[in-house]
Amino acid sequence: LIEFDRVDKSFGDLKVLDKLNFRVDPGERVTLIGPSGSGKTTILRLLMTLEKVTPTADPETEGGVIYVEGKPYSHMEKGGKLVPASERWLRQRRSRVGMVFQQFNLFPNMKVLRNVTEAQVHVAGRSKAEAEAKAGELLELVGLSEKADEYPARLSGGQQQRVAIARALAMDPDILLLDEVTSALDPELVADVLAVLRDVAETTSITMLCVTHEMGFARDVSNRVLMFDNGQIVEQGAPEAIFSEPQEARTQDFLRAVL
Ligand code: ATP
Repeated sequence: LIEFDRVDKSFGDLKVLDKLNFRVDPGERVTLIGPSGSGKTTILRLLMTLEKVTPTADPETEGGVIYVEGKPYSHMEKGGKLVPASERWLRQRRSRVGMVFQQFNLFPNMKVLRNVTEAQVHVAGRSKAEAEAKAGELLELVGLSEKADEYPARLSGGQQQRVAIARALAMDPDILLLDEVTSALDPELVADVLAVLRDVAETTSITMLCVTHEMGFARDVSNRVLMFDNGQIVEQGAPEAIFSEPQEARTQDFLRAVL
């Protein structure tokens, strides 16, 4: 479903991703772990089209390409060649991708219900009634039906994050990107958000790609863990294997430091 093919990303002189290859199959729930600054969030931002692949001068590699559903995503085809994607292409392609951020990013001036219907009406072109019906179902899924008429500021962080999850799911994405979604929450609120994500994982076939510093999250929600360092995958496997028998010294050191 998602494929990174020799993807480079630099910020000025800082090379964050170096010919990164990896793929995520439909329905997989993959967690990226690794030291701060290793490039995890950059991967999500590339998929959200908030960042662009860095082109290289080398015509053999061209800085790599991201594919989604077998079609170029970071690039588009023109005259039989892959060229960097236009804004219009990116806007259309990213509509299949939903993202939830660390800081919730709800619209503060809109009530909860409208937070979940806004993009459905204005981006997906659904009727208000259709959007509200969908929002109702999703607010129920995240356990917040009774908060539909509140403003975000009156909700706890955990509740706001659950609204953000409902908002992302409302657009029926194929891929859900989760960037440190529990790290801004008080510990007692983390469990509710994790429970909602476990429900989403169990009741839908959505593909998830998550970045987290919380190993409990990686263990609970994902079925594959990628250990990342210096823009490269150091080790990967099922959560049980990575956490109980990490093979690589860098994974062992990292887990010793965070667990
Ligand atoms: P963390 O776990 O701390 O979130 P991360 O593994 O997600 O780290 P990234 O956020 O992907 O790491 O950042 C990778 C590197 O790229 C870091 O050194 C960061 O400072 C740098 N970086 C990220 N975004 C930018 C930017 N817009 N401009 C310059 N440097 C950036």
